[in-house]
Amino acid sequence: MRVAFVDLRAQHDEIRADLDAAIKAVLDESAFIGGRRVATFEQNFAKFLGVSHAAGVGSGTDALRIGLQAAGVRPGDFVITVPHTFIATVEGITQAGATPLFVDIHPQSYNMDPAALARLLESSCTPGSGRGAIHRETGRTVAAVLPVHLYGQPADMAPILDLARRFGVAVVEDVAQAHGATYRFPDGTVRSCGTMGDVGCFSFYPGKNLGAIGEAGAVVTFDAERDRVNRVLRDHGQSQRYVHVSPDGSNARLDALQAVVLTLKLARLKEWNERRRQAAAWYREDLADLGELLPAEMSYGTHVYHLFVVQVPERERLQAALDQAGIGTGLHYPIALHLQEAYRSMGLARGAFPVAESVASRVLSLPMHPHLTREHVRYVAETLRTHLTRSQ
Ligand SMILES: *Cc1c(COP(=O)(O)O)cnc(C)c1O
Repeated sequence: MRVAFVDLRAQHDEIRADLDAAIKAVLDESAFIGGRRVATFEQNFAKFLGVSHAAGVGSGTDALRIGLQAAGVRPGDFVITVPHTFIATVEGITQAGATPLFVDIHPQSYNMDPAALARLLESSCTPGSGRGAIHRETGRTVAAVLPVHLYGQPADMAPILDLARRFGVAVVEDVAQAHGATYRFPDGTVRSCGTMGDVGCFSFYPGKNLGAIGEAGAVVTFDAERDRVNRVLRDHGQSQRYVHVSPDGSNARLDALQAVVLTLKLARLKEWNERRRQAAAWYREDLADLGELLPAEMSYGTHVYHLFVVQVPERERLQAALDQAGIGTGLHYPIALHLQEAYRSMGLARGAFPVAESVASRVLSLPMHPHLTREHVRYVAETLRTHLTRSQ
């Protein structure tokens, strides 16, 4: 048996006739950038999330840069995030002219540890008047905190939002892996990831839970002014054609072809997320004896399993054995960002973020997509177990 890591072909086959018709309609209209197709998707996506505004952009990386700028991040500022994420999270920060400040992750959720955030803010920042907090050692502004809802599981937003409010820091969410995931506040209120902070940043890279057939992303917010800034920044800093009001603009627009595909797939997202959750439940059943090596489902949220990530010893050997057996796997992510050559100038050594470093050295992502069958999961679990036992 072969089990693909992701199976976009199966996803597209399920809605192939609708996709073909929608793509043909865009070709017939030949209006490719922006326009009513993009507006329709934006409205549907905002409604799906329960937020007032969604602006389509060119990629998740664009969404992060633009979202941070709309949340008030300026060149020279600090933005707090985690070292265990895809590098684009930090690229959004540096492209906005800011510098990342890392805090470690929580060992169960793999997301920003609110206790680590509290330690950083309380030990080195003074609440500011107006924009952000003051970083005492440098006098620079800590303008935003950027939690990532990694692997499809919400970060623990209630304490993060409380801390951010106390220190006057904006909250921007990286929702590239958590379309449709929800978080439950202690008072019982349930909110979609991306709608709890000041701005939410989505990627629609093809393999994400909601994926385009090329590059695409979106920035969402409840704030009409921030939405206006998002729309100006994605389109050359224009307020109207050839009237440029911001020097921070770029070409970061969503195109009509992606918008029609995303509109069709959005209608399936809830069902596809449920199928991912079903596949995760099968993995749990078949791999119950792995115990703490399985991903934890935090009680405060609904996990939408962008990835199903286990922790294993001798990861590379296991990965090769699974590959031999026809099973696709991935590593998300093998090197913590503070240890990447790209960020060597930050001067952070091994040991700076022990949880992130340990997790990075042990994670292995098993096949996860809405078209996994019971037999696929059983085969992956059996193969994994065989090779795990052999190594002990
Ligand atoms: C995919 C991803 C991004 C970047 O999205 P692109 O659309 O590829 O630019 C950002 N953050 C995280 C956590 C991601 O997984």
